[in-house]
Amino acid sequence: MDTKHAILMAKSRTISPADGRMYANLLAHERLSPPDLAELQRVRGARLATYAWDTTDFYRDHYSSAGLSRQDVADPEAFEHLPTVEKEHLRDGSARFHARDVAQRDTKMASTGGSTGEPVRLLHDRRVPVRTISWRLLRWWGVEASDDVAHVYRHVRSPRREILHTLQWWPSRSIQIDAYRMDSAALETFFRRFRRVRPRLVLGYVGGIYELACHIEEHGIALPPVAAVGVTAAPLSEVQRSTIERVFGAPAFDHYRCGEVPWIAGECGAHRGLHSFGDVRLVEVVDDGGRRLPAGVIGDTVVTDLTNRAFPLVRYRLGDRSAMIATPCPCGVTLPLMEHVRGRVSDALHLPDGQIVAGEGLTAIFDDWPEAVRAFQVYQHADASISLRYVVGSDPRAEEIVAHVRDVVRSMVRDKVPVATELVDSIPHDGGKTRYIVSELRSVAPVRA
Ligand SMILES: [Zn+2]
Repeated sequence: MDTKHAILMAKSRTISPADGRMYANLLAHERLSPPDLAELQRVRGARLATYAWDTTDFYRDHYSSAGLSRQDVADPEAFEHLPTVEKEHLRDGSARFHARDVAQRDTKMASTGGSTGEPVRLLHDRRVPVRTISWRLLRWWGVEASDDVAHVYRHVRSPRREILHTLQWWPSRSIQIDAYRMDSAALETFFRRFRRVRPRLVLGYVGGIYELACHIEEHGIALPPVAAVGVTAAPLSEVQRSTIERVFGAPAFDHYRCGEVPWIAGECGAHRGLHSFGDVRLVEVVDDGGRRLPAGVIGDTVVTDLTNRAFPLVRYRLGDRSAMIATPCPCGVTLPLMEHVRGRVSDALHLPDGQIVAGEGLTAIFDDWPEAVRAFQVYQHADASISLRYVVGSDPRAEEIVAHVRDVVRSMVRDKVPVATELVDSIPHDGGKTRYIVSELRSVAPVRA
């Protein structure tokens, strides 16, 4: 394993010296004092905002229409007061975010947002070796960048990309399964490769990995143990965490990323929340007006990608809900802690009087009974009625517990809409992203109860 790691690191240094430099910086920043880190963020944030003003059509308009001058934007103390960027801004004209002085060869087109809205097109900055941020996270999980990995994502790589990927990562090996198409043939191939490669890491969507874990357990499939399981893209419930850890024989680690900003935050071995990668991503939790909320108060996550200069994203509201954590982490890493992401703003129930029941209270309704219900979804139909769909687990009291939780949901919606229970065989997931709360209703105005 050490030899493989040395080969990969040596390759990185020769092929891309930027990898080695960025990784060394990331390691050096992990234990900065909180005031030093906050200063680094303010300076980098202001520098990026000024750059965005100078090189894009969007930011100059956005800031000047808020009454700000270039000098205001360049002031590090003003950073947290800059107006936020909303998804609608990107949808209305993402070309206005392109930085003028970046050559096309330094950018990579990406699109995102398929499941919750129209896709948004944006650019990644190829000059930034983003993979080194994942190396930092893997190190916290006891896994090296060179270790073999099993991916459970939505899309598998095409044969051509597979060859490029193999060359880039050699001598590390990776296997993959499409979380969206886990039929018996795909599973059989995946398990055969899994036994041969013996990956140290399983990485992918919560829903897909959980489904895989349930299949392995139900069919008594024997697989070599791994060192860690990294999950993302949905809140990880206690039910899912305990199943995944039991089946793979390794701790599960949550992490936070999205199409717009790769690698935002991740869990360390202390499991006290997610450390935001504060030296390269500035995460804030804010109210509707974009003002920072104190630690412990749930709000919208707003992220600044401090590294992407091709398509600057400055104080970008991702539409997820979380809270910052004030207590330092016992692991020794000083990067700021945030709570596990509680689901999307859009995942809420809508009551006939216009009130909204935020989704974050609903994602944990079964957490106290991990054995009773294997999976669930709170589904609101177009007539506002609610179905509490559930897949029963091994606890013989399951029906009783479901009835209790139905009453809890009834009180959360203040008995204003009917709530029924519905036993189902499985909960569909969207490319491995399980949505706990689905509403066919959309609020007219973004009001929160
Ligand atoms: Zn920690």
